Amino acid sequence: MTNLRPSKITIAIDGTAGVGKSSVGKAVALKYGISFLSTGQMYRCLGWKVLKSGINMDDESAVIKAAKDIVWGFERQSDSSLKVLVDGQYLGDKLQLEEVGRAASKVSAIGPARAVIMQKQIDLGREGNIVMEGRDIGTAICPDAPVKIYLIANAEARAQRRVKQLQEQGEKADYDEILASIISRDERDSNRSCSPLKPAPDAVIIDTSALSLDEVIEKVMEEVGKVW
Ligand code: C5P
Repeated sequence: MTNLRPSKITIAIDGTAGVGKSSVGKAVALKYGISFLSTGQMYRCLGWKVLKSGINMDDESAVIKAAKDIVWGFERQSDSSLKVLVDGQYLGDKLQLEEVGRAASKVSAIGPARAVIMQKQIDLGREGNIVMEGRDIGTAICPDAPVKIYLIANAEARAQRRVKQLQEQGEKADYDEILASIISRDERDSNRSCSPLKPAPDAVIIDTSALSLDEVIEKVMEEVGKVW
């Protein structure tokens, strides 16, 4: 009998902001001993670089140049995630600032800047044995991934989770502001012309609104178990 089990696995996890893609992806990667990349980190790095260099977000050619000039580095951490280095620097918590998230969302909608980052992600996906989470992993980065998951949750559930997360970190959290930011980011990510947020036709859609993290992990692993 032929063994059809691939030697390496690529798992694509997509979905809206704050739906839990990173927590799920990291836990799944750790269980299988493979790497995890939160691809949004790379757009956040570019957003941070643009803000820090004082580049005007509307000056597309300057943003594209900034994207092309970045020297990327990836370091596997003990929790399985790939730490992203931009020009040799690890930006840590700075990447989680709301301001940097907004900048990331804007720069990621500039086609040629996006293309530079996408190519790097395509190369990482091809190496295999990786869980990648983002918005276009199943549709554009790893269209051949044998496992494609698309997570959804209503905006209110996501805003509540984010408030809880910030409070646990001892930070201020304004529910209404966070909800508004989630809704506007969803809208921008879904309506942009390049790689809009949408499930791949063969993605398994999981609504996490009423599920615990462990329940979502379980469901994803069930899907992996079918092919690997
Ligand atoms: O996932 P995260 O919130 O870190 O992503 C930051 C921003 O980067 C998103 O709002 C989205 O606009 C963009 N992004 C993207 N494609 C991805 C991952 C993130 O356009 N694959």
